[in-house]
Amino acid sequence: MPRSKENVKGLGAKYGSTLRKRYSRVYGGLKAARQCPSCSSMRLARVASGIWRCKSCGYTVAGGAYDLAQAKAK
Ligand SMILES: [Zn+2]
Repeated sequence: MPRSKENVKGLGAKYGSTLRKRYSRVYGGLKAARQCPSCSSMRLARVASGIWRCKSCGYTVAGGAYDLAQAKAK
């Protein structure tokens, strides 16, 4: 039975579905556009865990590891 809908590249069928869903939410969030607090462009990108940099103006900001806002424990 194909279950490819739930699978995220890189994790496969490992770790169980709960963690896979969490991973896919976090992983998708990494690619989402974010607004630069400095120049308001949407080119803020994560350069490392907790570090975000604007590709437009070069502004660098510390934030959460997986999102600009500090992640709340869920
Ligand atoms: Zn900027």
